Amino acid sequence: MHNSSLTDVLTLSHEIGREDRGLAILGEGNTSARLSDDTFLVKASGTCLGTLEAPDLVECRFSALLPLLERDAMTDAEVDEALLASRTDPKAKKPSVEAVFHAYLLSLPGIRFVGHCHATGVNQILCSPRARDFAEHRMFPDEIVCCGVASVFVPYTDPGLKLSQVIRRETEAFVKKVQRQPRVILMQNHGLIALGPTWQSIISALLMAEKAARIFAGAAAIGGPIFFTPQNVQRIAGRPDEAYRQRALKI
Ligand SMILES: [Zn+2]
Repeated sequence: MHNSSLTDVLTLSHEIGREDRGLAILGEGNTSARLSDDTFLVKASGTCLGTLEAPDLVECRFSALLPLLERDAMTDAEVDEALLASRTDPKAKKPSVEAVFHAYLLSLPGIRFVGHCHATGVNQILCSPRARDFAEHRMFPDEIVCCGVASVFVPYTDPGLKLSQVIRRETEAFVKKVQRQPRVILMQNHGLIALGPTWQSIISALLMAEKAARIFAGAAAIGGPIFFTPQNVQRIAGRPDEAYRQRALKI
């Protein structure tokens, strides 16, 4: 029943895990896909994106994980217990601790896939004093087409439940301000998340964010970058030919 979503999330994982791309090595990063209003697939803890196989994906219930976003404090053991209890198959592997933010992002309108990684170029910027600058500005048209008009910026937060809660807070603030769903979330001193309607939209956003980071770093070394004005950004985001390109590329 879920075969196409399963195939898509495996393809997405292998694309992100390709060593030549520098997006994720070893156990870094994770992926997920919405299956229905009730459940989603997420990468299991301790598995590798580049070699991910079907048993490395766990089907989890939204209803078991979304309530954790309201909790004030939970011990690591309580979070582990909740992660295990969210599985539809008790014999499945343990879901990634980041399954809580996957559940939240997959519950946003129009979002079917989420991909998270620790891309080398993006992390160069996220580990620098200019991380917020990179999130809030745009430099070239394809960055807007693939990564949206701006990215959500998440100040450094201890990975785990707290991080999922801060991601929700910053994403809600972004939607209120920008009046659009984000395509990219940048987490200071950690990595990035892409969210979208197709697996292709995720890999496009991740690769374009990585390219933008390299351009940012190169331009910064010679006195830049020169950012687009808000008018430049709105013009590109509203162009019908760019919308056509997005549809043709399934992004
Ligand atoms: Zn991470």
